[in-house]
Amino acid sequence: MATSSTKVVELGFAEPPDNPLTADSFPNKIGGKPAWLNLAHVLTAEDVLCGICKKPMVLLVQLYTPEDYPPEAFHRSIYVFCCKNGACHKTSWRKSLKVFRSQLPKYNPYWPPPNEESNGDDSNEYANCSSEKFTAVNYCVVCGLHGSKKCGKCNKAYYCSKEHQIIHWTSGQHKIHCNTTTPSLDDDNLCSKLVLFPEFEVVSEPEGNLVKDSENGEVDDSLSNLDNGNSRALVPVGDEIYENTQVNVDKAFLKFQKKVEPYPDQVLRYARLDYECEKNATPLWVSDIGKPMPEDIPSCPHCGQERTFEFQILSTLLNYLQVDHMQNDSLDWGLLLVYSCKDNCHVSDKNYVEEILWRQDFSDEGVNWSRFKSI
Ligand SMILES: [Zn+2]
Ligand SMILES: [Zn+2]
Ligand SMILES: [Zn+2]
Ligand SMILES: [Zn+2]
Repeated sequence: MATSSTKVVELGFAEPPDNPLTADSFPNKIGGKPAWLNLAHVLTAEDVLCGICKKPMVLLVQLYTPEDYPPEAFHRSIYVFCCKNGACHKTSWRKSLKVFRSQLPKYNPYWPPPNEESNGDDSNEYANCSSEKFTAVNYCVVCGLHGSKKCGKCNKAYYCSKEHQIIHWTSGQHKIHCNTTTPSLDDDNLCSKLVLFPEFEVVSEPEGNLVKDSENGEVDDSLSNLDNGNSRALVPVGDEIYENTQVNVDKAFLKFQKKVEPYPDQVLRYARLDYECEKNATPLWVSDIGKPMPEDIPSCPHCGQERTFEFQILSTLLNYLQVDHMQNDSLDWGLLLVYSCKDNCHVSDKNYVEEILWRQDFSDEGVNWSRFKSI
């Protein structure tokens, strides 16, 4: 997913995984249990507690986004956590979404350096590193967060919270499996499915030459000639028409609609810094309103560097999350935007650095469009 030197936006698509999305494959994924980069330090239920319902949130998206600088960001993953309860988001989305950054240097106790370099000095360095003892932590059998509690009867099942212990006891049939040798894997998986978002791999693809970013991130004019006969278009393309005939049109939404139209299944857009021209990437907004103010994206509290836009999650992802759109309190967003420390700063006493997430909602036009798309 990381494309540190390219100018192209990487589009992410949700696909059923071909192989299990295990930590050693450094996956880009949606839902399921987190695949931790740092095997000795994983997030706890307290780290990802929903500020409204006080239950642990679950993994929404994780991306593997290694960077060249600093060396501590050789491995780099971003984890987005989300409360599944749409009512919490209605009360305060700021309290029901969280994003964390986790990084590791090339030589670390958990992962060998890439294959082509695993000879000579490198392998010695790795040998030194890997001989550093680390204690692998226990994971919550239900959600994959740190399992700080365990079943007092069998001392074998670990949990992040009382909440998940109860779910495992009932829905996961641990009341039957506890202290027995009967296999519980199927029941465990069933239980996790109840709690977690369904798991998909994020497969990425450059947006391609069809859609070009001009200087300020505007949609290329050549797009106006595309798909004119497309029945899904809510409006004829071309902003000028609307400037003359309609007062309240949401121009940002029109741009958004045109830009995503060639790849309607995209669920994610990754567009970090353009290192070649040192220009910060800009999000593709779904509306002219609801953009963050500068004070909404504070500088990194650890190094003082600005936080810049890294990627955005689109509303199309909701179609994969088994969200019931008909429900009043269903999970909903126009965009989820992730802003992260521009310098990928290494904080020695923190294994997870919290970054900033911003939600933008659709205007009325966008709402109609997204409802239509989700049918
Ligand atoms: Zn909640
Ligand atoms: Zn748990
Ligand atoms: Zn037990
Ligand atoms: Zn920083």
